[in-house]
Amino acid sequence: MLPYGRQSISDDDIEAVTAILRGDWLTTGPAVTAFETAVGELAGGHRAVSCTSGTAALHMAYAGLGVGPGDEVVTTPMTFVATASCAAILGAKVVFADVEEDTALIDPAAVEAVVTDRTKVIAAVDYAGHAADYDALQPIADSVGAKTLGDAAHSVGGTYKGRPVGDLADVTTLSFFPTKNLTTGEGGAVVAKDPAIAQRVHEFHHIGVVRDPERFEHTGEGSWYYEVHEHGLNYRLTDIACALGLSQLKRLDAFKKRRTEITARYNEALAGVDGLRTPTQRDHVDPAWHLYPVRVLGGRRREVFDGLRAAGILVQVNYIPVHWQPVFANAGYQRGLCPNAEQFYREEISLPMFPDLTDADVDRVIETLTKLVA
Ligand SMILES: *Cc1c(COP(=O)(O)O)cnc(C)c1O
Repeated sequence: MLPYGRQSISDDDIEAVTAILRGDWLTTGPAVTAFETAVGELAGGHRAVSCTSGTAALHMAYAGLGVGPGDEVVTTPMTFVATASCAAILGAKVVFADVEEDTALIDPAAVEAVVTDRTKVIAAVDYAGHAADYDALQPIADSVGAKTLGDAAHSVGGTYKGRPVGDLADVTTLSFFPTKNLTTGEGGAVVAKDPAIAQRVHEFHHIGVVRDPERFEHTGEGSWYYEVHEHGLNYRLTDIACALGLSQLKRLDAFKKRRTEITARYNEALAGVDGLRTPTQRDHVDPAWHLYPVRVLGGRRREVFDGLRAAGILVQVNYIPVHWQPVFANAGYQRGLCPNAEQFYREEISLPMFPDLTDADVDRVIETLTKLVA
């Protein structure tokens, strides 16, 4: 059985975790601080706040940006549902903008067409690991007083015009789920360029606790004292998880290199095959390929998907357009709203893509797939 994605865990990763288990801090200790520092350095030198998942990161990011009832959040339907649901759960109206036909990334022209003075956030997704077009999105956000959010669950380690993911949007969210570019088991992080937003994100993920005496509404209490000014949750990541993350970060370059090699091997073998379409890469983007999304033309996606699965190749489909989910559809979002995303969905299959995949594994996928479409 060949999964579409899986973690790569080394002996060093295991040692890093067991060292924490033997130590003094299981959570909210030095490994958390060290991991947040390292993620921040990787992501453009901005403050990073670690958390329990990529979904938690999105919730924290929208909360930190002040998203609430009366606000609109513009996003792509070609994503995991959390990109949209974390805005909806805060009371915002989600507005879907269609994707570019080739990259499946949010189309700046479609965003331009739907922004209003109620738009609070434009949330792009670096689908498959390829950064969205932030230089086109940022001026649109600025023109209506909105912020940009990059859901970089797929793309950490990648660059856009030479700038690292984390430095592209006002706020960036990461996921460290096992299939992603690095893992902490479950986990995620928010990176914010504005230190005030980063601090709000931090407080939201720590029950709203304010520790800075300068900001206290009441003074004269002892050093145990803290205040809560706004409601928050406990989304803190443990030292156990952060130790794994720190160890995995040392391997991120090697992971990315291998993902790039696998992409090149698939591209070379599949680009000329009738009935298939290989992923698009813009010249100014160096992706951290998280997925290999091949497109099966001629209405044969289901047949090919079932054929691959029957051969023990556990492919996936990324993603079901988010506005098709009953939670949105029952609220009036209609099919046909985003035709490019919907067509992409009808054709897409995510082939196995993870660093420990061997060339022989890749060749088996290529051979099986080309036979199925022949
Ligand atoms: C994985 C993922 C998330 C959510 O991350 P979790 O860690 O699974 O909660 C959000 N957005 C995208 C695009 C993802 O791929």
